[in-house]
Amino acid sequence: MSEERQRSLHQVAVEQFQRAADIIDLKPQYREILSHPKNEIIVNFPVKLDDRSTKVFTGYRIQHNNILGPFKGGLRFHPQVDLDEVRALAAWMTFKTALAGIPFGGAKGGITIDPSQYSEEEMARVVRRFTHALGGNIGPEHDIPAPDMGTNSQTMDWVMDTYANITPPGARQSVKGVVTGKSLACGGSLGREEATGQGVLYALRHWCGETSARLEGLKVTVQGFGNVGSHFAELAADAGCHIVAVADHTGTVRADGGLDIHKLRSWVADTGGVGGFPAADEITTEELFSEEADVFVPAALENQLTAIRARSLKVRLVIEAANGPTTPHGEAVLADRGIEVIPDILANSGGVVVSYFEWLQNKTSMAWSLTDVDERLRSIVWAAHDEVVVTAAQHQCSRRDAAYIVALNRLADAYNRRGIFP
Ligand code: GLU
Repeated sequence: MSEERQRSLHQVAVEQFQRAADIIDLKPQYREILSHPKNEIIVNFPVKLDDRSTKVFTGYRIQHNNILGPFKGGLRFHPQVDLDEVRALAAWMTFKTALAGIPFGGAKGGITIDPSQYSEEEMARVVRRFTHALGGNIGPEHDIPAPDMGTNSQTMDWVMDTYANITPPGARQSVKGVVTGKSLACGGSLGREEATGQGVLYALRHWCGETSARLEGLKVTVQGFGNVGSHFAELAADAGCHIVAVADHTGTVRADGGLDIHKLRSWVADTGGVGGFPAADEITTEELFSEEADVFVPAALENQLTAIRARSLKVRLVIEAANGPTTPHGEAVLADRGIEVIPDILANSGGVVVSYFEWLQNKTSMAWSLTDVDERLRSIVWAAHDEVVVTAAQHQCSRRDAAYIVALNRLADAYNRRGIFP
């Protein structure tokens, strides 16, 4: 594992797209451009804490690419956030939006912070001061943040309100689309909160269609029970899957016939984590990776699926709900063992796709029904899956390489026509 840790996450992201670039012989100038983020904004800003002391926080916004549309991507609040991680996450957004075929580029931001250590009032001040520090670096036609790990609709409401308040009065109503993932009360979209989990389930349904597997009765293990993991688990359980084991930072629980996910969600809402959930056995994190099932869904941090863990997996399919959950060594082991991987930029694009819907609704002052949102999400996500399957067959490559090929072809088409200024 130490060997795996030596590679920076951004390096891994670059290597992933370079492998696909080799297959299609991408022009060197595009490789060069896409290997670097376009803009890197780092802000240090002071915030008054409840005990009257002042703390300076470091926030990032990395704008990777905007050839296909405004920069787009989440804000992550986590103690592990650093420049390298945000750079990688920003690059993945460029490929994710290009693959989905939505008119956005890629960006990511974050603050190195453990939100659980601060009061709600303190977090409001952190978010507002960060938004103020970013100032004109974000905007509804320029760079549009969204939720990610450690942030939610409340965070986005504060960003939108702060941004509106630093906008001239006549334009305030037109800047709601500066962030997506807002609450419904503030211009959010139906279906946005569960969108990433919904997209992961569509990925699973697509794979079932390809392989003639039945969704009902499929055994699934899930690592991570935050927004993505919990919504996916609930939607999948409602669709008939057996969620046999779930892990988060408080523990790992398993149940032979499948966990009652509705009860687990209320347990987590009350206690803060899955650990100690009655009506389940407690196992270790490592045992999660050797649990017998059909599908493993990593929905937590990066670099979780290492070579050692990939060797112990007893599943047929890995669906990457998290960004970058599989290490390069882990990926090689999975390929060796014939375990199929639906890659992150394809599997977890549901969030940004519904962010696009929210942005469109804000632009047109409309509110779509949940059925509308879900139908459109499914059609975009499945179209991308179809393209990936065809491309993988055409080039005899993995789904990850194929996903990057589809994205790179879209980016290259735009560069070919626009040229490089001046
Ligand atoms: N943070 C999510 C992601 O990694 C959503 C980004 C967005 O909606 O802009 O894809």
